[in-house]
Amino acid sequence: MENYEKSYPKMLPFNRECDHDLVGAYISVLLSRYSFLEQVYVGESIRGRELYCVRLGRADAQPVLYVGAHHGMERITSSLLLRFINEYCESMAEGVRMYGVGMDYIFSERCIYVLPMLNPDGVELSLRGASEESPLYERLLRMNGGDDFTHWQANERGVDLNHNYAAGFTEYKALEKEDGIINGPTKYSGEYPESEPETSALCRLIRTVSPEMILTLHTQGEEIFYTSGGTCPKISHRIGRVMSDMTGYRLAEPEGSAAYGGLTDWFVAEYGKPSFTIECGKGKNPLPPDDFFNIYARLRELFFRAPILF
Ligand SMILES: [Zn+2]
Repeated sequence: MENYEKSYPKMLPFNRECDHDLVGAYISVLLSRYSFLEQVYVGESIRGRELYCVRLGRADAQPVLYVGAHHGMERITSSLLLRFINEYCESMAEGVRMYGVGMDYIFSERCIYVLPMLNPDGVELSLRGASEESPLYERLLRMNGGDDFTHWQANERGVDLNHNYAAGFTEYKALEKEDGIINGPTKYSGEYPESEPETSALCRLIRTVSPEMILTLHTQGEEIFYTSGGTCPKISHRIGRVMSDMTGYRLAEPEGSAAYGGLTDWFVAEYGKPSFTIECGKGKNPLPPDDFFNIYARLRELFFRAPILF
């Protein structure tokens, strides 16, 4: 831990790729530094990597959930959430106001659960390729059609976690069949909803804490999606417009296969509460770590103020 304290000072090393080790190390430094920060046990990935999650705010306050890195090559979203956790803690400790709102108010009125990396195995694959130590090594190479995993999005079983929720699952299965999509780098929805340990753990957390709102970070496109099958709770329109003003991101509605089985689809359909899929940054996935600072600057206000928009 002392080593991490030295090597990960106040600022996240945002000019490097984010992986599961960095998430764990960074969160443990913050936990040792800030007594009000709470770690929440959510579960593990298929390869046994912990799905790190922290709670910012009073446990009895209105819950909100932020989730990053459903997709392997979108790990820059984990860096964004780690930086937010860090800034939240610093601001709270200093007792300052953020965007005109006192941190003590945010802390006592909202309880923000932040899960920076839902798919650590997919991140590892996209960053470093398949490991011969994986029991799925041969299968991974077959599913991927080669050893270049740069554009791998799914989890280690070749299931795209953001198509693995119980929303339009049957309809999506038909599309999948038409397009010949099977286990692989992207878009395969799995055998049944929540079949994967990552999605099943996240849904368990959601059923336990009942968030009032969810933000899910993906890359890229500078867009905010807020509907599912063309519908959403009324309040989503208003919150979406404010978020769009804050960030300059375009409000958008999903098309084609993007409209099925996602976390936002499921949460909106199941709970009738606002949920937003935020496509961070612009460029070609995987976005380079050098893009981190500009993306964070655009989203910073949203991270702090989104919870008090409802
Ligand atoms: Zn994504």
